[in-house]
Amino acid sequence: MQRPQSITDNSNSSNDLKHLKSIDSNAVLSPHSMIQDLVWRKVIIIAFIHITGSYGVYLLLTVAKWQTWLFLFLTQIATSVSITAGAHRLWTHKSYKAKLPLRIILLTLFTMTFQFSCISWVRIHRQHHKFSDTDADPHNAKRGFFFSHIGWSMVKRHPEVRAHTVDLSDVMADPLLRFQHKYYSLLLLIIGFIVPTYIPTLWAEETKVAFFVCACLRCVIAIHMISLVNSVAHMWGNKPYDKYIEPVESKMVSFLAAGEGFHNYHHSFPWDYRAAELGGYSLNLSKLFIDFMATIGWAYDLKVVPDELIKRRVERTGDGTHPVWGWDDPDLSADDKKFVVMINKTRNTDGVFALDNIVSFLRQQFNISFSK
Ligand SMILES: [Zn+2]
Ligand SMILES: [Zn+2]
Repeated sequence: MQRPQSITDNSNSSNDLKHLKSIDSNAVLSPHSMIQDLVWRKVIIIAFIHITGSYGVYLLLTVAKWQTWLFLFLTQIATSVSITAGAHRLWTHKSYKAKLPLRIILLTLFTMTFQFSCISWVRIHRQHHKFSDTDADPHNAKRGFFFSHIGWSMVKRHPEVRAHTVDLSDVMADPLLRFQHKYYSLLLLIIGFIVPTYIPTLWAEETKVAFFVCACLRCVIAIHMISLVNSVAHMWGNKPYDKYIEPVESKMVSFLAAGEGFHNYHHSFPWDYRAAELGGYSLNLSKLFIDFMATIGWAYDLKVVPDELIKRRVERTGDGTHPVWGWDDPDLSADDKKFVVMINKTRNTDGVFALDNIVSFLRQQFNISFSK
């Protein structure tokens, strides 16, 4: 486990970003070689979890009890939300605040997910936002699908990633996060592997099945679920909020990743606890969770971007695909309204029917002429 970078002042970040963008265009001509940079210890860990997870799929489909299926499903949802509502929206982006019991629950579940320590996760993700899709982005999507999805976690960090650090003073000051960081390997072993292997034995599941399904396979699913955000949600979709950045909107990713696929919006407004403007709870399980926690008083100071600010951003930098629900939607542009063709306009009439319309319709259909 790598220790997080030292805390640095990031006041020159916008200049850094301009510099990085020029580096990135050169990098296309001479791509960084992934093979040369492989870190074999990391390759073996990733290969191990995937081989054991694949065996978990086989056991799940052949011998696992229904209670084990249910346990896998519930732990999968709970741990997914711990990444999205916890490591992501709470600790990385500070989009809301949480009371101690909620922070303990989120951190415990997050530790099960095989996603580095929370402090490391925050460092990687803040760097991803700050230097998005440049060489200083740890999972730079411009280096291809495989690299941004999982390849980045098997190679040495790019020199630009090492050179550009972000402020971590807040998470480093949190004793809970420091504890989890310090004892991460031990906690992962206990909470991520031993506990989920033990619990299914309570309904007489075989230990072998419990280990490969509820520990290994569960970790593999969590890894790929969140990786979709780094790969797919930086490649294929619309950019209704900012067409000048790589992140896109992907409902499929939102469904699979507990609400994290509205990625063009999220990169435009990373402090919004919803990580989305549109989409109901079915596409944003993490918002449902945070709203529920706010209802019981464990989540508070939830930050939301006002509609007017979103609208201004859509008009200024959007690609024109921002959805509108219909005619009076405030997002319908004044230009679109001005050039609309309105047929069969309503006329003022004293009677029940618009007699003029009826006469005109009959004339058109049957070529009838009425003498006045
Ligand atoms: Zn992103
Ligand atoms: Zn983010």
